Amino acid sequence: MSAQIIDGKAFAAKVRGQVAEHVTALKADHGITPGLAVVLVGEDPASEVYVAAKHKQTVEVGMASFEHKLPADVSAADLFALIDQLNADKNVHGILCQFPVPDHLNERAVVARIDPAKDVDGLSVVNAGLLASGETGLVSCTPLGCLMLLRDQLGDMTGKEAVIIGRSNLFGKPMGQLLLQDNCTVTIAHSRTADLPAVCKRADILVAAVGRAEMVKADWVKPGATIIDVGITRIPHPDKPGKSKLLGDVDFAPCSKVAGTITPVPGGVGPMTIACLLANTVTACCRANGLAEPEGLTA
Ligand code: NAP
Repeated sequence: MSAQIIDGKAFAAKVRGQVAEHVTALKADHGITPGLAVVLVGEDPASEVYVAAKHKQTVEVGMASFEHKLPADVSAADLFALIDQLNADKNVHGILCQFPVPDHLNERAVVARIDPAKDVDGLSVVNAGLLASGETGLVSCTPLGCLMLLRDQLGDMTGKEAVIIGRSNLFGKPMGQLLLQDNCTVTIAHSRTADLPAVCKRADILVAAVGRAEMVKADWVKPGATIIDVGITRIPHPDKPGKSKLLGDVDFAPCSKVAGTITPVPGGVGPMTIACLLANTVTACCRANGLAEPEGLTA
């Protein structure tokens, strides 16, 4: 058997297309332009690349992009003053602060300062709580992207055994809540899980979010399972000196022979994250203006 490979790049382009349609309609029908503000503290090269990609894609879907670059030694008070200003700005519907931030700033406090209605990263305690209670909030972008891919592949997931490896606030916990909401029977595994291979082998849906290259082996996989590989490990490229290569948490080639469907790394989950950030910004904009939410772009 050879698994069907999910093209996350193509699916993300489709999501961005839907976002762009909603943006066009919001402008034409209501004179509203959704706006996303991104705050970058310091000059971390990887963060600068992410922020540039977010800016480019935000503009491409027709939204307003507000970039705020602050020096690495900015005080918490000055950062909070900027967030307060963005919270109050009616042209800004989504705010995210690119992490990591320098050590003297507390990431949880930064997230807590952002108005939950504009917390398009879905990382605040308020949005985590709303998700856990089955109420409407903003959902963390990568798990939302995985949910969209799974719904597209599987349709109704009622009764499926879902195993998520990883229990972070950023990914594992919200992913578990989302699959529970879609009527899966959910197990969240972690570094202390006993007999992880046996737990994984039960899964109709196996989602790996650990950050350990190729740890999920073919004999952990239930035949026909759907595998979503979230993990990213960067290694020196074996054939191209000076270049790097990305590996997922799943030993791709052997697992593809057992699974029914699988995401590759790169080109699977990765592109969905920014697409869902844009989707969340449109959703936040619609809610802020008392308008109907876009269909298919929320949990
Ligand atoms: P994290 O906060 O480091 O969490 C990793 C999780 O993996 C923890 O819950 C940890 O368990 C678990 N774990 C570690 N070693 C394990 C083992 N040997 N067996 C089973 N579980 C183990 O990481 P994260 O932020 O959730 O991200 C996970 C991965 O996804 C990373 O590679 C990250 O780069 C990637 N990621 C990708 C995207 C994207 O594609 N856009 C977005 C987010 C994350 P304990 O809790 O017991 O320590």
